[in-house]
Amino acid sequence: MNDRWRRPRGTQDVLPPESARVERFRRVFYDWAERYGYEEIQTPVFEQTAVFVEGVGQATDIVQHERYTFVDAGGTSLTLRPEGTAAVARAYVEHGMNAWPQPVRLFYWQPMFRRERPQAGRFRQHQQYGVELYGAEGFEADAEVILLATRILAAVGKTPRVRLNSLGDAACRPAYRQALVAYYAEHRAELCEDCQARLEHNPLRLLDCKRDQHLKAGAPDIRDFWCEPCRDHFAGLTALLADLGVEVDHDKNLVRGLDYYHRTVFEVDDEGLGAQNTILGGGRYDGLPARFEGPAVPAVGFAGGVERLLLALGDAWPAIRPARVYLAQIGTGTEALRWAERLRAEGLPVVTDLLGRSLKAQMKDAARRARWAVMVGGQEWAAGRAPVRDLVTGTTVEVARDELAAWLRARIATLAQEQDGQEER
Ligand SMILES: [Zn+2]
Ligand SMILES: [Zn+2]
Repeated sequence: MNDRWRRPRGTQDVLPPESARVERFRRVFYDWAERYGYEEIQTPVFEQTAVFVEGVGQATDIVQHERYTFVDAGGTSLTLRPEGTAAVARAYVEHGMNAWPQPVRLFYWQPMFRRERPQAGRFRQHQQYGVELYGAEGFEADAEVILLATRILAAVGKTPRVRLNSLGDAACRPAYRQALVAYYAEHRAELCEDCQARLEHNPLRLLDCKRDQHLKAGAPDIRDFWCEPCRDHFAGLTALLADLGVEVDHDKNLVRGLDYYHRTVFEVDDEGLGAQNTILGGGRYDGLPARFEGPAVPAVGFAGGVERLLLALGDAWPAIRPARVYLAQIGTGTEALRWAERLRAEGLPVVTDLLGRSLKAQMKDAARRARWAVMVGGQEWAAGRAPVRDLVTGTTVEVARDELAAWLRARIATLAQEQDGQEER
C-alpha cells in the first residue's frame, strides 16, 4: 500500500480476533465496576485546551510534549483527551455533582490521545479504563478503589501486587519538596537533561527518572515528612488492605507522573513488560475540582491501558471462540438460510455459507468461525432430526429439529457460565 494511505504512526486497527479479546476484557471491567456500584461517564473526545493544561499540570510530559492540540474554525484551542481524570473533574464541576448523593462513583472506558514515542503496548490513541470516586476523604475510599483494581486484574488471571506511597498533603509536602530540591541541587551536575528541568518545575518527578537511579537511595524519605493526618491515613489504608488480603509494598519513591496527586498514589506492575511495566496506576487528587473553580471535594481513582494489559496477558488470556452456530447446507436449496433466520429470531448467533460450497468445504469453514455445525437438508433432516457437530470436541449428536433452538441455547448458556466462573474469582 502507498504510505499516504496508511494509518497514522503509533495508531492501530483492532481486528478480530483481537477485538474479541478487547470486548472480553471490557465486559470483565464493566462487570466489576458495576459490582462496586460505579456508573459510567462519557466525556467528549476533545476539551478546551485549558482543561488539560490546568487539570493535568503545566509541568507534565503530557501537557508539554504529548498534546494533540488544534485550533478549530471558530478560533477555539481544543485538545484531544490525553487522560480521563481531568476531563471527569471538569464534568464533575460543570454538572454540580457535589449536589448529588455522595459519594459519587464513576467509571469510564474511553480512547486517550498522546503523542508518545511508539513502543510495544503504547499507542498514540489507546483505550483506557478507569474509575473516579468523589466525595469521600477517608482511607476506606482509597481501599475500595484499590480493591476494585485488584479484583479486575485477578479476574483476568493476574496476581496483582500493589506498590503504594503517600505524597503527603498541603501541610507536609512543601517541606519534603524543599528537601528533595536541596538534595538534588547538590548533585545537579550528575543529573540528566530532563531532570535539570524537573528540578525547577516538577521536583517530585526526579524520583521517576530511569537514568538517575543511583541518586535515589540517598534522597530524602517522604515518610520522615508526613504530618500526623497523612501518617494515619496511610497506616489505616495499609492495615485495611492487609485485613482484606491485598498484598501491598510500600514504595517510598513512587510519585506518578501527574502533578494533581495528594496523599495516596499506587501502581500495579507486570513482570513481563520490561522497563515500562506499570499496567495500572492511580491515587488521590483532592485538589483537582478546585482547579476548575469547583468545590474542594476529595477524590480518588485509577486508570489502566487496555492494550498494555492485553499485551501483558498474552496467550494466557485468549479471545474466546464465539459460541456461534453454522448451518451447513447439504446439496442445493435455501433450507439452511431459512432455518438460520428462524434461529436468529430465537436469539441465537448463526452464520451460513453464502458461497455455494460443498458440505466438506462448509465444515472446514465452520471449524474456523463457529462452535457447532448443524447439517441441514440430508436424510436425517428430512426425518425431523438435526445432526449437530461440536467443532471443538468433534462429536456429533442428533437433536430433534423442533428442539434445536432450545438445545443450542442451553449449550450456549452453559459455556457462558463456565467462562463467568473463570472470571469471578
Ligand atoms: Zn534524570
Ligand atoms: Zn500531611
